[in-house]
Amino acid sequence: MVSSTVLGSGLRSLLESLNSLRITIENQPERKRQGAEPVLDAFLGAANGCADRISVTGQIADMKSALFRRVPADPPHLKVLHEGQAFKVALKRRPTAKRITLRVSNATGEVVLSIPERTDVGLAQKFADSHSQWIATRLAKVPERVIFEPGALVPVRGVLHRIVHWSSIRGVTQAGRGSAGEPIIAVAGEASHVARRVRDFLEAEAKKDFAAAVKKHTAQLGVSAKRITVRDTKSRWGSCSANGALNFSWRLIMAPPFVLDYLAAHEVAHLRELNHSHRFWKITHQLCPRTDEAEAWLKTYGSARHRIG
Ligand SMILES: [Zn+2]
Repeated sequence: MVSSTVLGSGLRSLLESLNSLRITIENQPERKRQGAEPVLDAFLGAANGCADRISVTGQIADMKSALFRRVPADPPHLKVLHEGQAFKVALKRRPTAKRITLRVSNATGEVVLSIPERTDVGLAQKFADSHSQWIATRLAKVPERVIFEPGALVPVRGVLHRIVHWSSIRGVTQAGRGSAGEPIIAVAGEASHVARRVRDFLEAEAKKDFAAAVKKHTAQLGVSAKRITVRDTKSRWGSCSANGALNFSWRLIMAPPFVLDYLAAHEVAHLRELNHSHRFWKITHQLCPRTDEAEAWLKTYGSARHRIG
């Protein structure tokens, strides 16, 4: 028989430990340059909003699970109120999670609360509620979403271009100058196709620039690339397969040219060194003297490029 005092003391100790929770606000540590792509990591950090997160150790969750059985159905979202605003917080139960983690994605503006397998939803809600100010601050820093539509400003090779839908007659999409000399992307065809045509245009431009940059770097290094593809990769800016195929994110056409050039140099260097060793970085720096600057740029501004288009 379980006496109420036993349960009572269990609850009391739980509440005490809740009060003494050590909540940490940490910057995502730069992942070690081994195995995974540092570029990928910088990108992941930003894209997944891991640049900032709040977490709490799993001990409490374990204690909770000992006291309460998990309620089977979790709500997909929690609602967090803050100064008249209501934030939608996606609730993700992760069997492998050891702690509660709150994240705000810079790429999507999504707020996600990850909780261990047996953590009580009530505790998750309490945790989210107690960080409403943090969520508000982080969301305020999420870059504005830019849709590819007439009038929108889109960076091309680091320079803002205004999208202009100039004709309903089908024609080639091109970057040029407007009547006042301002940079524009001129799009023809049906208005409903503007977004797709801008995207197609930027992808094609990215492919052109990457082809040229890879050609330059492979010639300098005396290696050859198998194939160059340009995609909308979410997890990395670029990659190099074991058979020498290079893949890049088309979104780098929106970055300043030296950043795209760096990514090309980085992946070309992998044709010689399929790792992130000292030798690899030496080659990358030789091919692209602005390597450090480009890495810093991606870290600071990279995720905003995922809010465009
Ligand atoms: Zn790499």
